[in-house]
Amino acid sequence: MAEPGLVDTHIHLDALPEPEQALGRARALGVTDFIAMGVDGESSRHALASARNGEGVWAAAGHHPLNQHAPDLGLLRELAGQPRTVAIGEVGLDHVDEHRGPHAAQAEWFRCCCRLALEVGLPVSIHTRGCEQAVYDLLREHAGIAGVMHYWTLDQAWAERFLELGLYISFAGILTRASRADVREVVKRIPPERILLETDAPWGTPRGRSGPMQPAWLLDTARVVAQLLGLELAELAARERANAQALFPKLRARQPADTR
Ligand SMILES: [Zn+2]
Repeated sequence: MAEPGLVDTHIHLDALPEPEQALGRARALGVTDFIAMGVDGESSRHALASARNGEGVWAAAGHHPLNQHAPDLGLLRELAGQPRTVAIGEVGLDHVDEHRGPHAAQAEWFRCCCRLALEVGLPVSIHTRGCEQAVYDLLREHAGIAGVMHYWTLDQAWAERFLELGLYISFAGILTRASRADVREVVKRIPPERILLETDAPWGTPRGRSGPMQPAWLLDTARVVAQLLGLELAELAARERANAQALFPKLRARQPADTR
């Protein structure tokens, strides 16, 4: 079933239980494309291997801020140059994690990854928790950078600031939760052409579901967003797909094996 053609713009396939079956269930509901994130060198390699093997799967090469080691920039650059790699991610800053805590070099790693993104001409998929001002300041240092703020949980004022930098905003299952009317409000107030959707699977289970997040549950988020925007699901899917193709130029109308 090709309809409705949604794109899960941020998923961790290497952390997902039974990824093949999970992708199959999502495809059956009309999620046709998936951008597999890399959080370090090894998982970035895994993301690219998944993209080469899986229908509609694309890769990102990145270095998560909660790593306790520096990025292998040579490897990330090599992976970024491959046809199926559409983004640099997951990258960003995190000063909240109670288990690992911030690493002093986080900002330097993020800066290196932004420079790499500009060098190779790819957008960034950005993680931020507890440090939106620092993320904003650092992105502003990199004129011309394209990207998406993943797993949006911030308010309208922050949305406007990141939109002004040219960034997209990606909504995840958290917006389905009764307590997050604030996130749903942001959906209604930002330009629809900057909206993306994601699961962040296996994390971020939506309202009424239990167990690890599934890519098929992108539909839970999509239905809420469609309703907020007064669109049919198919209309939202067309909008979101166009947005994803605008931000990730390498993710275009699927072309048989030639792009692998
Ligand atoms: Zn993630």
